[in-house]
Amino acid sequence: MQAIQGEIPTPCRLTERKDSIRQTVKLHDILIIGAGLAGMRAAVAAPPDLDVAVMSKVHPVRSHSVAAQGGINAALGENDSWEAHAFDTTKGGLYLGDQDAIEAMCREAPDDILELERLGVIFSRDEQGHIAQRPFGGAGFPRTCYAADRTGHAILHAMYEQLLKRRIAVYEEWYVTALIVEDGVCRGVVAWDLIHGGLHAIGAKAVILATGGSGRVFLTSTNAVINTGDGMALAYRAGAPLADMEFVQFHPTTLKGTGILITEGARGEGGYLLNTLGERFMKAYAPQQMELATRSTVSLAIGQEILEGRGVDGCVLLDLRHLGRQRILERLPQIRQLAIEFAGLDPIETPIPVRPGAHYQMGGVRTNQWTETGIAGLYAAGECACVSVHGANRLGGNSLLETIVFGRRAGIRAGEYARTVTPQARRNDQFTAEQARVQRLLAQDGSVRPWQIREELGQTMSLNLGLVRTHESMSAAISAITALTHRAASITVQDKGRVFNTDLVQALELQSLLDVGESIVVSALARQESRGAHYRSDFPVRDDQHWLRHSLIHRTPEGTALTYEPVTITRFPPA
Ligand SMILES: Cc1cc2nc3c(=O)[nH]c(=O)nc-3n(C[C@H](O)[C@H](O)[C@H](O)COP(=O)(O)OP(=O)(O)OC[C@H]3O[C@@H](n4cnc5c(N)ncnc54)[C@H](O)[C@@H]3O)c2cc1C
Repeated sequence: MQAIQGEIPTPCRLTERKDSIRQTVKLHDILIIGAGLAGMRAAVAAPPDLDVAVMSKVHPVRSHSVAAQGGINAALGENDSWEAHAFDTTKGGLYLGDQDAIEAMCREAPDDILELERLGVIFSRDEQGHIAQRPFGGAGFPRTCYAADRTGHAILHAMYEQLLKRRIAVYEEWYVTALIVEDGVCRGVVAWDLIHGGLHAIGAKAVILATGGSGRVFLTSTNAVINTGDGMALAYRAGAPLADMEFVQFHPTTLKGTGILITEGARGEGGYLLNTLGERFMKAYAPQQMELATRSTVSLAIGQEILEGRGVDGCVLLDLRHLGRQRILERLPQIRQLAIEFAGLDPIETPIPVRPGAHYQMGGVRTNQWTETGIAGLYAAGECACVSVHGANRLGGNSLLETIVFGRRAGIRAGEYARTVTPQARRNDQFTAEQARVQRLLAQDGSVRPWQIREELGQTMSLNLGLVRTHESMSAAISAITALTHRAASITVQDKGRVFNTDLVQALELQSLLDVGESIVVSALARQESRGAHYRSDFPVRDDQHWLRHSLIHRTPEGTALTYEPVTITRFPPA
């Protein structure tokens, strides 16, 4: 395997603007891993005089942010306030969110939305021509800005245009296999060039992880197949703790069969949830907020209806018919299209069968509100991070906001840091270890393929760490993951080639999924209470006295270790 330490043999693809790339890049000031909204926002916010590069395992606009449907929150309304937004976010997250970070996000949100608009995002409008806002679950005010039901698409494409305009280098289709951390300082990454094949060490004064979520650790999920928690695993292996990994959000409405997301915007526009008796059953669970209660409440209610035999073929029904053809076509065109193509029904005429599905990781790489992790020179933002604005349950529309606010903050802070770093010669050991790992994967011949373990892991997680958890179910999951990790050591990669070896990538992703799965289960088993997305039938009550604290999971040579950290409380005492 040919390796060129610290150099890229061919110019990286700046989406066909090769002229702007230096032939041999020895060291970037800032290297951003991930070209979703958090990554691209960081790149655009970083100081323009620094050498900034973005690396992504897929083309930037294929990042999962493109699939975001319902919208992004900001207190723009005349009678709304950032304090009200902060309160809803804190309360919705069952007081586990860090209130300093929540305040920063909600206070900065309106300016960020206006900035997005200036950068070219075409938001839907109300009758007066202002940015339209729809109600979302757990929010006391309609504060979700949207572009029909394709909000992520609109924002991601506008951000990508900014990347092109600024001629920011993009390593398209490069897969990061490890962080280079020396003496507690992050100095770059080891990455596999998917298109040409080959492993490279790429230096950077600062590295920002913006690698998105890990939904694919579950068998069915609303997440793209690329959401394998790589960034969380990279940081975890490098010694940075992951926080609150037990809090995995199940979205109440995913399409029967495929698990494709049906946006909360559908209920925001006035859609009803019905059981087999035709009742709006939410009146029994949240009589005031009804379908717009927080996601954990609605998901548990749907689960209960199905469990007690009032479901419809393992689902409940989402009824949009009363909204009328015009409104559905205007506000929810993608939802209609998805229902027609993937469930064979038109929501203008027929209710949509839906059920809860794995959707979002509230936990992630622990950071402070300036996105700094436990490792100097390493930053994290977006879904892979846990700055802890979502606490135990994220409000819809707050995740896109998190990517924008904290992506921007990461770009700024990493820029400040990079200016203070004097480049040093890097050692070779981390690169050599990665090279040996990849060589071993390509060389070994076993009977088990990566996808087989991946599927079994997904089944284990979906079965034992779904909406309702118990000591027994989680203990079973730990044993299963230990066995799967053991088997994964001898998987076989059948494609022995270098060029576009997706089999190899699957094998590398599998390692991330196993690490993330383990961190979820170990953290969840230890937390003996129910809070937000973590519901235990053996500990059904929220217990602030013992558990109003963050779980931090560490990877040590002896195995996993858990520590705890207090929650930052500023203006909203837990109620
Ligand atoms: C279907 C769906 C709908 C949603 N709708 C909404 C919504 O309406 N409102 C809302 O607020 N939130 C929504 N969310 C959540 C929100 O979209 C995500 O949390 C957010 O977009 C994540 O952005 P990100 O930038 O952190 O990561 P992503 O957009 O997932 O990007 C991750 C990037 O990291 C790169 N990457 C990952 N691993 C590696 C590696 N090893 N090497 C190199 N590159 C790597 C990927 O290539 C990609 O570019 C939705 C989520 C889903 C799944």
